[in-house]
Amino acid sequence: MSATQPRRAVITGGAGFVGSRLATRMYERGWHVVVVDNLCTGDLRNLEALQGKPGFEVIEANVSDGIPVDGPVHDVMHFASPASPPDYLERPIETLRVGSEGTMHALKLAQAHGARFLVASTSEIYGDPLEHPQRESYWGNVNSIGPRSVYDEAKRFSEAATMAWHRHHGVDTRIIRIFNTYGPGMQTDDGRVVPNFICQALRGEALTVYGDGSQTRAFCYVDDLVEGILAVLERGDAEPFNLGSPGEFTIGQFAELVREVVGGPAVTYHPLPTDDPKRRQPDITRAKTELGWAPQVSLREGLVPTVAYFRERLGL
Ligand code: UDP
Repeated sequence: MSATQPRRAVITGGAGFVGSRLATRMYERGWHVVVVDNLCTGDLRNLEALQGKPGFEVIEANVSDGIPVDGPVHDVMHFASPASPPDYLERPIETLRVGSEGTMHALKLAQAHGARFLVASTSEIYGDPLEHPQRESYWGNVNSIGPRSVYDEAKRFSEAATMAWHRHHGVDTRIIRIFNTYGPGMQTDDGRVVPNFICQALRGEALTVYGDGSQTRAFCYVDDLVEGILAVLERGDAEPFNLGSPGEFTIGQFAELVREVVGGPAVTYHPLPTDDPKRRQPDITRAKTELGWAPQVSLREGLVPTVAYFRERLGL
């Protein structure tokens, strides 16, 4: 990257949890950054440190309708979408639109500028996986008519569109499949297990375990994820990369860990959401061997800044 002419990145969903952390890191690393976000689940407070800086802009727009960016574009990072199950279940049509129309607008922007393109896909494309841990070669087990399909199928479509633009139009594309990620920047009312348990513990409320707590997830600290995203952008290729932490926990174990770190009363049990995946753990061999990337922050370590962030957001 030349000192006189920085690369300019468009980050859709750049006010969201992962997008804003990525925007901050890319700006620190010398990119000019244009965030495009309709703030439906994003929050401009996540971008406070960047506001007013030269080479940083926010455009409030719905990328499903188009991406109104003028000037040079070198990298298009497509992160716009509700990502928490309660958020996408509340916004089924918007979620389908941003994964389909939004992705195609983002691909067309990259095509028009000869820019690199990276799409934030998800471990949800594996559905309730029959292969464990999940490798990139696994095709998945998604219920196409279940309530979660608005997210899963939208992301599967976004991968298909990305490969079509790559094969048919020669766009330099990347696909990352993000597994459960946590850290500062999540919304307190986001509804996912990490904000729920931490906010419940901080408020002295019982932790709401869905099902019997035996389902598993592997949690990656957001700064580790962002380093992985940049590694894929700079050194990856068009085939998908899993990005996440291989450390698998049951939800019951995770509740115990939050109670150890924060304190708080015991757990209460609630019905398991429809089609909730029973086990999820990334196989990150490809990112490790081809990019030299692996998460560095343990769940216990990452919970410390995350709890401090939620404490502040809750005004406690
Ligand atoms: N979960 C839970 N209590 C909550 C929120 C979520 O037990 O208050 C469970 C949920 O059923 C799932 C896991 O935690 O098995 C992770 O859910 P999350 O919504 O964080 O993300 P997902 O991995 O399902 O997309």
